Amino acid sequence: MLEKNDIVTVIIEDMSMNGEGIGKSNGYTLFVKDTVVGDVAEVKVMKTKKTYGYARLMKLVTPSAERIQAKCPIARQCGGCQIQEMSYESQLRFKQNLVKNNLERLGGILPGTYELYPIIGMEEPWHYRNKAQFPVGANREGELLMGFYAGRTHSIIETEKCFLGDSVNECVLSVIRDFMTKNKIAPYNEETGRGIVRHILIRKGVRTGQVMVCVVINAGKLPHSDKLVQALVSQIAGLASVSVSINRENTNVIMGNEIQVLWGSSYIEDYIGEILYRISPLSFFQVNPVQTEKLYQKVLEFAQLTGQETVWDLYCGIGTISLFLARNSKRVYGVEIIPQAIDNARENAIINNISNAEFFVGKSEEVLPKFFKDEYRKTGVRPTADVIVVDPPRKGCEETLLSTIAEMAPKRIVYVSCDSATLARDLKSLTAYGYEVRKVQAVDQFGQTVHVETVVLLACKEHRQ
Ligand code: SAH
Repeated sequence: MLEKNDIVTVIIEDMSMNGEGIGKSNGYTLFVKDTVVGDVAEVKVMKTKKTYGYARLMKLVTPSAERIQAKCPIARQCGGCQIQEMSYESQLRFKQNLVKNNLERLGGILPGTYELYPIIGMEEPWHYRNKAQFPVGANREGELLMGFYAGRTHSIIETEKCFLGDSVNECVLSVIRDFMTKNKIAPYNEETGRGIVRHILIRKGVRTGQVMVCVVINAGKLPHSDKLVQALVSQIAGLASVSVSINRENTNVIMGNEIQVLWGSSYIEDYIGEILYRISPLSFFQVNPVQTEKLYQKVLEFAQLTGQETVWDLYCGIGTISLFLARNSKRVYGVEIIPQAIDNARENAIINNISNAEFFVGKSEEVLPKFFKDEYRKTGVRPTADVIVVDPPRKGCEETLLSTIAEMAPKRIVYVSCDSATLARDLKSLTAYGYEVRKVQAVDQFGQTVHVETVVLLACKEHRQ
Protein backbone atom coordinates (compact mmCIF):
# COMPACT_ATOMS: atom_id res chain seq x y z
CA MET A 1 0.00 0.00 0.00
CA LEU A 2 1.36 3.37 -0.98
CA GLU A 3 1.24 6.51 1.09
CA LYS A 4 0.98 10.18 0.28
CA ASN A 5 4.26 11.66 -1.04
CA ASP A 6 5.70 8.25 -1.96
CA ILE A 7 7.61 8.36 -5.21
CA VAL A 8 7.34 5.35 -7.51
CA THR A 9 7.95 4.46 -11.13
CA VAL A 10 4.99 3.18 -13.13
CA ILE A 11 4.25 2.07 -16.67
CA ILE A 12 1.10 3.74 -17.99
CA GLU A 13 -1.06 0.94 -19.36
CA ASP A 14 -4.48 2.45 -19.85
CA MET A 15 -6.42 5.72 -19.84
CA SER A 16 -9.30 6.73 -17.59
CA MET A 17 -12.48 8.35 -18.93
CA ASN A 18 -11.11 11.67 -17.73
CA GLY A 19 -7.89 11.32 -19.70
CA GLU A 20 -5.60 10.40 -16.81
CA GLY A 21 -3.02 7.70 -17.43
CA ILE A 22 -3.47 4.53 -15.38
CA GLY A 23 -0.47 2.65 -14.03
CA LYS A 24 0.13 0.04 -11.34
CA SER A 25 2.63 -0.08 -8.52
CA ASN A 26 2.72 -3.52 -6.86
CA GLY A 27 -0.85 -4.14 -7.96
CA TYR A 28 -2.10 -0.78 -6.62
CA THR A 29 -3.75 1.40 -9.28
CA LEU A 30 -2.61 4.99 -9.73
CA PHE A 31 -4.29 7.66 -11.86
CA VAL A 32 -1.71 10.09 -13.22
CA LYS A 33 -2.72 13.31 -15.01
CA ASP A 34 -0.53 14.40 -17.96
CA THR A 35 0.64 10.89 -18.83
CA VAL A 36 0.03 8.87 -21.96
CA VAL A 37 -0.30 5.10 -22.53
CA GLY A 38 3.21 3.71 -22.94
CA ASP A 39 4.95 6.30 -20.75
CA VAL A 40 7.32 5.07 -18.07
CA ALA A 41 7.04 7.74 -15.41
CA GLU A 42 8.28 8.66 -11.99
CA VAL A 43 5.24 9.83 -10.05
CA LYS A 44 4.46 11.22 -6.62
CA VAL A 45 1.43 9.91 -4.77
CA MET A 46 -0.94 12.77 -3.86
CA LYS A 47 -4.03 11.03 -2.53
CA THR A 48 -4.81 7.42 -1.62
CA LYS A 49 -8.06 5.46 -1.41
CA LYS A 50 -8.57 1.81 -0.56
CA THR A 51 -8.10 0.34 -4.01
CA TYR A 52 -6.61 3.21 -5.99
CA GLY A 53 -4.88 6.55 -5.69
CA TYR A 54 -3.92 9.70 -7.55
CA ALA A 55 -0.36 10.68 -8.38
CA ARG A 56 1.40 13.59 -10.06
CA LEU A 57 3.87 13.23 -12.90
CA MET A 58 7.37 14.12 -11.66
CA LYS A 59 9.64 12.86 -14.41
CA LEU A 60 9.21 11.00 -17.66
CA VAL A 61 11.68 8.12 -17.56
CA THR A 62 10.78 6.90 -21.06
CA PRO A 63 8.20 8.86 -23.03
CA SER A 64 5.57 6.86 -24.93
CA ALA A 65 5.75 6.65 -28.71
CA GLU A 66 2.22 8.09 -28.74
CA ARG A 67 3.33 11.23 -26.91
CA ILE A 68 3.77 14.54 -28.68
CA GLN A 69 4.75 18.01 -27.55
CA ALA A 70 1.61 19.94 -26.54
CA LYS A 71 1.00 22.90 -28.86
CA CYS A 72 -0.34 25.13 -26.15
CA PRO A 73 2.12 26.33 -23.50
CA ILE A 74 -0.56 26.25 -20.79
CA ALA A 75 -2.11 22.89 -21.79
CA ARG A 76 -1.34 21.30 -18.43
CA GLN A 77 -2.64 24.07 -16.20
CA CYS A 78 -5.71 25.00 -18.19
CA GLY A 79 -8.94 23.10 -17.57
CA GLY A 80 -9.91 22.99 -21.25
CA CYS A 81 -7.78 20.29 -22.89
CA GLN A 82 -6.95 17.01 -21.19
CA ILE A 83 -5.12 15.05 -23.87
CA GLN A 84 -3.05 17.49 -25.93
CA GLU A 85 0.04 15.40 -25.31
CA MET A 86 -1.41 12.46 -27.24
CA SER A 87 -1.05 12.37 -31.01
CA TYR A 88 -4.41 12.90 -32.71
CA GLU A 89 -4.47 9.29 -33.98
CA SER A 90 -4.00 8.07 -30.39
CA GLN A 91 -6.77 10.38 -29.22
CA LEU A 92 -9.12 8.83 -31.76
CA ARG A 93 -8.08 5.31 -30.79
CA PHE A 94 -8.65 6.18 -27.13
CA LYS A 95 -12.15 7.50 -27.86
CA GLN A 96 -13.13 4.56 -30.06
CA ASN A 97 -12.01 2.11 -27.35
CA LEU A 98 -13.79 4.07 -24.65
CA VAL A 99 -17.09 3.83 -26.52
CA LYS A 100 -16.62 0.15 -27.37
CA ASN A 101 -15.65 -0.81 -23.82
CA ASN A 102 -18.49 1.11 -22.23
CA LEU A 103 -21.10 -0.37 -24.55
CA GLU A 104 -19.83 -3.89 -24.13
CA ARG A 105 -18.84 -3.87 -20.46
CA LEU A 106 -21.45 -1.53 -18.98
CA GLY A 107 -24.17 -1.96 -21.58
CA GLY A 108 -23.90 -5.71 -21.98
CA ILE A 109 -23.94 -5.39 -25.78
CA LEU A 110 -22.23 -8.49 -27.15
CA PRO A 111 -19.20 -7.92 -29.36
CA GLY A 112 -19.88 -8.88 -32.96
CA THR A 113 -23.67 -8.45 -32.68
CA TYR A 114 -23.64 -4.88 -33.97
CA GLU A 115 -21.76 -2.83 -36.53
CA LEU A 116 -19.13 -0.60 -35.00
CA TYR A 117 -17.88 1.93 -37.54
CA PRO A 118 -14.47 3.58 -37.25
CA ILE A 119 -14.66 6.91 -35.39
CA ILE A 120 -15.11 9.99 -37.58
CA GLY A 121 -12.19 12.24 -36.71
CA MET A 122 -11.61 15.90 -37.53
CA GLU A 123 -9.64 17.00 -40.56
CA GLU A 124 -8.17 19.81 -38.50
CA PRO A 125 -8.30 19.11 -34.75
CA TRP A 126 -7.28 22.69 -33.88
CA HIS A 127 -9.12 26.04 -34.03
CA TYR A 128 -12.46 24.30 -34.41
CA ARG A 129 -14.50 26.04 -31.71
CA ASN A 130 -16.90 28.75 -32.83
CA LYS A 131 -17.35 30.09 -29.31
CA ALA A 132 -15.06 31.26 -26.52
CA GLN A 133 -15.75 32.75 -23.12
CA PHE A 134 -12.80 34.50 -21.53
CA PRO A 135 -12.93 35.46 -17.85
CA VAL A 136 -11.56 38.92 -17.02
CA GLY A 137 -9.91 39.81 -13.71
CA ALA A 138 -6.78 41.28 -12.15
CA ASN A 139 -3.62 39.83 -10.63
CA ARG A 140 -2.30 40.75 -7.18
CA GLU A 141 -0.64 43.85 -8.59
CA GLY A 142 -3.98 44.96 -9.99
CA GLU A 143 -2.97 44.37 -13.60
CA LEU A 144 -5.64 43.31 -16.06
CA LEU A 145 -5.89 39.56 -16.74
CA MET A 146 -7.76 37.84 -19.54
CA GLY A 147 -7.53 34.14 -20.21
CA PHE A 148 -8.88 30.85 -18.97
CA TYR A 149 -9.50 29.28 -15.62
CA ALA A 150 -6.95 26.78 -14.40
CA GLY A 151 -8.45 23.29 -14.05
CA ARG A 152 -11.05 23.10 -11.22
CA THR A 153 -10.28 26.63 -9.96
CA HIS A 154 -11.21 30.24 -10.60
CA SER A 155 -7.69 31.56 -10.96
CA ILE A 156 -7.20 33.05 -14.38
CA ILE A 157 -4.20 32.00 -16.44
CA GLU A 158 -3.24 34.88 -18.67
CA THR A 159 -3.56 34.00 -22.32
CA GLU A 160 -5.21 35.58 -25.29
CA LYS A 161 -4.56 32.64 -27.52
CA CYS A 162 -6.41 29.36 -27.37
CA PHE A 163 -5.48 26.72 -29.92
CA LEU A 164 -9.04 25.45 -30.07
CA GLY A 165 -10.56 28.84 -30.89
CA ASP A 166 -10.62 31.15 -33.90
CA SER A 167 -7.83 33.67 -34.40
CA VAL A 168 -10.39 36.50 -34.28
CA ASN A 169 -10.52 35.93 -30.50
CA GLU A 170 -7.04 37.35 -30.02
CA CYS A 171 -7.88 40.49 -32.00
CA VAL A 172 -11.09 41.07 -30.04
CA LEU A 173 -9.35 40.59 -26.68
CA SER A 174 -6.61 42.97 -27.63
CA VAL A 175 -9.15 45.66 -28.65
CA ILE A 176 -11.03 45.21 -25.36
CA ARG A 177 -7.84 45.25 -23.31
CA ASP A 178 -6.81 48.49 -24.94
CA PHE A 179 -10.30 49.98 -24.42
CA MET A 180 -10.38 49.02 -20.74
CA THR A 181 -6.90 50.41 -20.09
CA LYS A 182 -7.45 53.71 -21.90
CA ASN A 183 -10.85 54.30 -20.32
CA LYS A 184 -9.91 52.97 -16.87
CA ILE A 185 -12.65 50.37 -16.82
CA ALA A 186 -12.07 47.99 -13.94
CA PRO A 187 -12.27 44.21 -14.26
CA TYR A 188 -14.71 42.41 -11.98
CA ASN A 189 -13.43 41.02 -8.70
CA GLU A 190 -15.22 37.84 -7.64
CA GLU A 191 -14.32 38.32 -3.99
CA THR A 192 -15.43 41.90 -3.49
CA GLY A 193 -18.18 41.89 -6.12
CA ARG A 194 -16.75 45.18 -7.47
CA GLY A 195 -15.46 46.16 -10.88
CA ILE A 196 -17.26 45.99 -14.20
CA VAL A 197 -16.07 43.60 -16.90
CA ARG A 198 -16.59 39.93 -15.99
CA HIS A 199 -16.40 37.87 -19.15
CA ILE A 200 -16.03 38.26 -22.88
CA LEU A 201 -18.10 36.02 -25.12
CA ILE A 202 -17.00 35.73 -28.73
CA ARG A 203 -18.82 33.68 -31.38
CA LYS A 204 -18.12 33.25 -35.03
CA GLY A 205 -20.26 31.75 -37.77
CA VAL A 206 -17.93 29.22 -39.37
CA ARG A 207 -19.74 29.29 -42.72
CA THR A 208 -20.92 32.94 -42.67
CA GLY A 209 -17.84 34.53 -41.08
CA GLN A 210 -20.11 36.72 -38.89
CA VAL A 211 -18.58 37.69 -35.54
CA MET A 212 -20.42 38.37 -32.29
CA VAL A 213 -18.87 40.11 -29.28
CA CYS A 214 -20.77 40.22 -26.00
CA VAL A 215 -19.20 41.79 -22.91
CA VAL A 216 -20.64 40.53 -19.62
CA ILE A 217 -20.73 43.39 -17.11
CA ASN A 218 -21.49 43.94 -13.46
CA ALA A 219 -23.24 47.27 -14.10
CA GLY A 220 -26.37 48.66 -15.76
CA LYS A 221 -24.32 50.12 -18.62
CA LEU A 222 -20.82 49.87 -20.02
CA PRO A 223 -19.13 53.30 -19.67
CA HIS A 224 -17.75 54.74 -22.95
CA SER A 225 -19.31 51.88 -24.88
CA ASP A 226 -19.33 54.01 -28.06
CA LYS A 227 -15.52 53.94 -28.01
CA LEU A 228 -15.47 50.18 -27.75
CA VAL A 229 -17.90 49.87 -30.65
CA GLN A 230 -15.79 52.24 -32.75
CA ALA A 231 -12.63 50.25 -32.10
CA LEU A 232 -14.26 46.88 -32.79
CA VAL A 233 -15.93 48.10 -35.99
CA SER A 234 -12.67 49.42 -37.35
CA GLN A 235 -10.56 46.40 -36.43
CA ILE A 236 -12.67 43.23 -36.54
CA ALA A 237 -13.50 41.79 -39.94
CA GLY A 238 -16.95 40.21 -40.16
CA LEU A 239 -18.25 41.98 -37.04
CA ALA A 240 -22.04 41.62 -37.01
CA SER A 241 -23.17 42.03 -33.42
CA VAL A 242 -21.84 43.85 -30.34
CA SER A 243 -23.75 43.66 -27.08
CA VAL A 244 -23.43 43.65 -23.33
CA SER A 245 -24.99 41.15 -20.98
CA ILE A 246 -25.91 42.47 -17.53
CA ASN A 247 -24.91 40.12 -14.72
CA ARG A 248 -24.87 41.74 -11.26
CA GLU A 249 -25.21 38.53 -9.29
CA ASN A 250 -22.46 37.00 -7.22
CA THR A 251 -22.58 33.73 -9.17
CA ASN A 252 -20.58 31.30 -11.27
CA VAL A 253 -23.15 31.59 -14.03
CA ILE A 254 -21.40 33.51 -16.79
CA MET A 255 -24.17 35.23 -18.68
CA GLY A 256 -26.83 37.58 -17.30
CA ASN A 257 -30.28 37.42 -18.86
CA GLU A 258 -30.53 41.07 -19.94
CA ILE A 259 -28.83 41.77 -23.25
CA GLN A 260 -28.29 45.32 -24.58
CA VAL A 261 -27.33 45.51 -28.23
CA LEU A 262 -24.66 48.18 -28.73
CA TRP A 263 -24.14 47.80 -32.45
CA GLY A 264 -25.40 45.68 -35.35
CA SER A 265 -27.77 42.80 -35.01
CA SER A 266 -28.92 40.97 -31.86
CA TYR A 267 -27.76 37.69 -33.37
CA ILE A 268 -25.35 36.12 -35.86
CA GLU A 269 -26.24 33.41 -38.34
CA ASP A 270 -24.61 30.15 -39.32
CA TYR A 271 -25.45 27.00 -41.20
CA ILE A 272 -25.38 23.32 -40.35
CA GLY A 273 -25.97 21.52 -43.64
CA GLU A 274 -28.59 23.57 -45.48
CA ILE A 275 -30.32 24.82 -42.37
CA LEU A 276 -29.72 28.40 -41.28
CA TYR A 277 -29.64 29.12 -37.56
CA ARG A 278 -29.89 32.41 -35.71
CA ILE A 279 -27.61 32.49 -32.71
CA SER A 280 -28.08 35.11 -30.01
CA PRO A 281 -25.70 35.57 -27.06
CA LEU A 282 -27.86 33.40 -24.80
CA SER A 283 -28.73 30.63 -27.21
CA PHE A 284 -27.15 27.25 -27.22
CA PHE A 285 -25.39 26.33 -30.45
CA GLN A 286 -23.11 23.44 -31.26
CA VAL A 287 -19.48 24.60 -30.80
CA ASN A 288 -18.09 22.56 -33.69
CA PRO A 289 -20.59 22.83 -36.53
CA VAL A 290 -18.29 21.12 -39.06
CA GLN A 291 -18.31 17.84 -37.09
CA THR A 292 -21.91 18.37 -35.98
CA GLU A 293 -22.96 18.22 -39.61
CA LYS A 294 -21.25 14.84 -39.98
CA LEU A 295 -22.95 13.68 -36.77
CA TYR A 296 -26.39 14.76 -38.00
CA GLN A 297 -25.76 13.12 -41.38
CA LYS A 298 -25.32 9.88 -39.45
CA VAL A 299 -28.53 10.53 -37.51
CA LEU A 300 -30.31 11.05 -40.85
CA GLU A 301 -28.76 7.91 -42.33
CA PHE A 302 -29.67 5.79 -39.27
CA ALA A 303 -33.22 7.19 -39.23
CA GLN A 304 -33.79 5.89 -42.81
CA LEU A 305 -36.48 8.43 -43.60
CA THR A 306 -38.62 8.30 -46.74
CA GLY A 307 -40.77 11.37 -46.14
CA GLN A 308 -43.69 9.42 -44.61
CA GLU A 309 -42.46 9.16 -41.02
CA THR A 310 -43.53 10.65 -37.75
CA VAL A 311 -40.37 11.55 -35.84
CA TRP A 312 -39.77 12.71 -32.27
CA ASP A 313 -36.61 14.63 -31.42
CA LEU A 314 -36.27 14.58 -27.63
CA TYR A 315 -33.89 17.06 -25.92
CA CYS A 316 -34.06 19.11 -29.12
CA GLY A 317 -32.33 22.33 -27.95
CA ILE A 318 -32.90 24.97 -30.63
CA GLY A 319 -34.33 22.32 -32.94
CA THR A 320 -31.06 21.49 -34.65
CA ILE A 321 -31.77 17.82 -35.29
CA SER A 322 -35.53 18.33 -35.73
CA LEU A 323 -35.01 20.81 -38.57
CA PHE A 324 -32.26 18.70 -40.11
CA LEU A 325 -34.71 15.75 -40.31
CA ALA A 326 -37.89 17.70 -41.13
CA ARG A 327 -37.42 17.79 -44.91
CA ASN A 328 -37.26 14.00 -45.03
CA SER A 329 -40.18 13.27 -42.70
CA LYS A 330 -43.91 13.76 -42.61
CA ARG A 331 -43.94 15.38 -39.20
CA VAL A 332 -41.33 16.12 -36.52
CA TYR A 333 -42.04 16.84 -32.85
CA GLY A 334 -39.28 18.41 -30.74
CA VAL A 335 -39.18 18.50 -26.93
CA GLU A 336 -36.86 20.69 -24.87
CA ILE A 337 -36.81 21.92 -21.27
CA ILE A 338 -35.58 25.49 -21.90
CA PRO A 339 -38.35 27.79 -23.16
CA GLN A 340 -35.98 30.25 -24.90
CA ALA A 341 -34.44 27.39 -26.86
CA ILE A 342 -37.92 26.43 -28.07
CA ASP A 343 -38.49 30.09 -29.12
CA ASN A 344 -35.29 29.80 -31.18
CA ALA A 345 -36.42 26.44 -32.59
CA ARG A 346 -39.74 27.91 -33.77
CA GLU A 347 -37.98 30.96 -35.23
CA ASN A 348 -35.45 28.71 -36.99
CA ALA A 349 -38.28 26.65 -38.49
CA ILE A 350 -39.82 29.84 -39.90
CA ILE A 351 -36.64 31.29 -41.43
CA ASN A 352 -36.03 27.94 -43.13
CA ASN A 353 -39.65 27.60 -44.39
CA ILE A 354 -40.17 24.40 -42.44
CA SER A 355 -43.84 23.94 -41.50
CA ASN A 356 -43.98 20.28 -40.46
CA ALA A 357 -42.09 20.69 -37.18
CA GLU A 358 -43.83 21.29 -33.88
CA PHE A 359 -42.10 22.04 -30.58
CA PHE A 360 -43.04 21.45 -26.95
CA VAL A 361 -41.49 23.00 -23.84
CA GLY A 362 -40.99 20.57 -20.98
CA LYS A 363 -39.08 17.59 -19.72
CA SER A 364 -38.92 14.75 -22.23
CA GLU A 365 -39.73 12.30 -19.43
CA GLU A 366 -42.94 14.24 -18.72
CA VAL A 367 -44.03 15.49 -22.15
CA LEU A 368 -43.82 12.16 -23.98
CA PRO A 369 -45.59 10.01 -21.33
CA LYS A 370 -48.33 12.64 -21.05
CA PHE A 371 -48.74 12.82 -24.83
CA PHE A 372 -48.92 9.03 -24.94
CA LYS A 373 -51.58 8.76 -22.23
CA ASP A 374 -53.70 11.65 -23.51
CA GLU A 375 -53.69 10.38 -27.09
CA TYR A 376 -54.46 6.84 -26.03
CA ARG A 377 -57.40 8.02 -23.94
CA LYS A 378 -58.69 10.31 -26.69
CA THR A 379 -58.45 7.93 -29.61
CA GLY A 380 -58.48 4.50 -28.04
CA VAL A 381 -55.55 3.65 -30.30
CA ARG A 382 -52.03 3.21 -28.97
CA PRO A 383 -50.02 6.20 -30.26
CA THR A 384 -46.93 5.24 -32.21
CA ALA A 385 -43.96 6.90 -33.87
CA ASP A 386 -41.75 5.71 -36.69
CA VAL A 387 -38.48 7.07 -35.38
CA ILE A 388 -37.54 8.52 -32.00
CA VAL A 389 -34.28 10.45 -31.64
CA VAL A 390 -32.86 11.31 -28.21
CA ASP A 391 -29.89 13.58 -27.52
CA PRO A 392 -29.82 13.94 -23.73
CA PRO A 393 -27.25 15.80 -21.60
CA ARG A 394 -24.54 13.76 -19.86
CA LYS A 395 -26.78 12.19 -17.28
CA GLY A 396 -28.72 10.35 -19.99
CA CYS A 397 -32.46 9.51 -20.03
CA GLU A 398 -34.86 8.76 -17.20
CA GLU A 399 -36.27 5.25 -17.06
CA THR A 400 -39.86 6.59 -17.40
CA LEU A 401 -38.89 8.07 -20.74
CA LEU A 402 -37.24 4.89 -21.98
CA SER A 403 -40.26 2.79 -21.04
CA THR A 404 -42.64 5.21 -22.80
CA ILE A 405 -40.44 5.17 -25.89
CA ALA A 406 -40.67 1.37 -25.89
CA GLU A 407 -44.47 1.54 -25.49
CA MET A 408 -44.69 3.76 -28.55
CA ALA A 409 -42.83 1.00 -30.39
CA PRO A 410 -40.93 3.08 -32.95
CA LYS A 411 -39.29 1.02 -35.68
CA ARG A 412 -36.03 2.76 -34.99
CA ILE A 413 -34.48 4.67 -32.11
CA VAL A 414 -31.49 6.88 -32.79
CA TYR A 415 -29.60 7.69 -29.61
CA VAL A 416 -27.11 10.59 -29.76
CA SER A 417 -24.93 10.74 -26.68
CA CYS A 418 -22.14 12.85 -25.26
CA ASP A 419 -21.39 10.34 -22.47
CA SER A 420 -20.89 6.74 -23.46
CA ALA A 421 -21.25 5.49 -19.86
CA THR A 422 -24.83 6.72 -19.43
CA LEU A 423 -25.48 5.72 -23.04
CA ALA A 424 -24.47 2.16 -22.16
CA ARG A 425 -26.77 2.15 -19.13
CA ASP A 426 -29.73 3.35 -21.24
CA LEU A 427 -29.01 0.85 -24.02
CA LYS A 428 -29.22 -1.90 -21.45
CA SER A 429 -32.77 -0.79 -20.61
CA LEU A 430 -33.80 -0.41 -24.22
CA THR A 431 -32.46 -3.87 -25.04
CA ALA A 432 -34.53 -5.27 -22.18
CA TYR A 433 -37.60 -3.62 -23.75
CA GLY A 434 -37.06 -5.52 -27.01
CA TYR A 435 -34.69 -3.29 -28.97
CA GLU A 436 -31.44 -4.37 -30.56
CA VAL A 437 -28.34 -2.27 -31.05
CA ARG A 438 -27.56 -2.40 -34.78
CA LYS A 439 -25.06 0.33 -35.55
CA VAL A 440 -22.66 2.49 -33.55
CA GLN A 441 -20.77 5.51 -34.82
CA ALA A 442 -18.47 7.65 -32.68
CA VAL A 443 -17.75 11.19 -33.89
CA ASP A 444 -15.00 13.39 -32.51
CA GLN A 445 -16.38 16.89 -32.02
CA PHE A 446 -13.86 17.98 -29.41
CA GLY A 447 -10.26 17.19 -30.36
CA GLN A 448 -7.67 17.55 -27.52
CA THR A 449 -10.36 16.84 -24.92
CA VAL A 450 -11.67 13.52 -23.62
CA HIS A 451 -15.18 14.15 -24.91
CA VAL A 452 -16.70 12.05 -27.67
CA GLU A 453 -20.12 11.91 -29.30
CA THR A 454 -21.76 8.63 -30.23
CA VAL A 455 -24.75 7.85 -32.45
CA VAL A 456 -26.46 4.50 -32.01
CA LEU A 457 -29.16 2.91 -34.14
CA LEU A 458 -31.51 0.57 -32.32
CA ALA A 459 -34.22 -1.37 -34.08
CA CYS A 460 -37.30 -3.04 -32.70
CA LYS A 461 -36.77 -6.80 -32.84
CA GLU A 462 -40.21 -7.28 -34.38
CA HIS A 463 -39.44 -4.95 -37.26
CA ARG A 464 -36.68 -6.87 -38.98
CA GLN A 465 -34.97 -4.77 -41.64
N1 SAH B 1 -30.16 18.19 -29.83
C1 SAH B 1 -29.72 19.52 -29.54
C2 SAH B 1 -29.31 19.78 -28.09
C3 SAH B 1 -28.69 18.66 -27.34
S1 SAH B 1 -28.03 19.14 -25.78
C4 SAH B 1 -28.57 19.88 -30.47
O1 SAH B 1 -27.98 19.01 -31.07
O2 SAH B 1 -28.28 21.06 -30.63
C5 SAH B 1 -29.23 18.52 -24.65
C6 SAH B 1 -30.45 19.40 -24.49
O3 SAH B 1 -31.34 18.80 -23.55
C7 SAH B 1 -30.16 20.79 -23.94
O4 SAH B 1 -30.71 21.73 -24.81
C8 SAH B 1 -30.89 20.81 -22.57
O5 SAH B 1 -31.44 22.07 -22.26
C9 SAH B 1 -31.97 19.81 -22.78
N2 SAH B 1 -32.52 19.11 -21.60
C10 SAH B 1 -31.91 18.80 -20.44
N3 SAH B 1 -32.71 18.05 -19.67
C11 SAH B 1 -33.87 17.87 -20.36
C12 SAH B 1 -35.08 17.16 -20.09
N4 SAH B 1 -35.25 16.48 -18.96
N5 SAH B 1 -36.04 17.19 -21.03
C13 SAH B 1 -35.88 17.88 -22.18
N6 SAH B 1 -34.75 18.57 -22.49
C14 SAH B 1 -33.76 18.56 -21.59
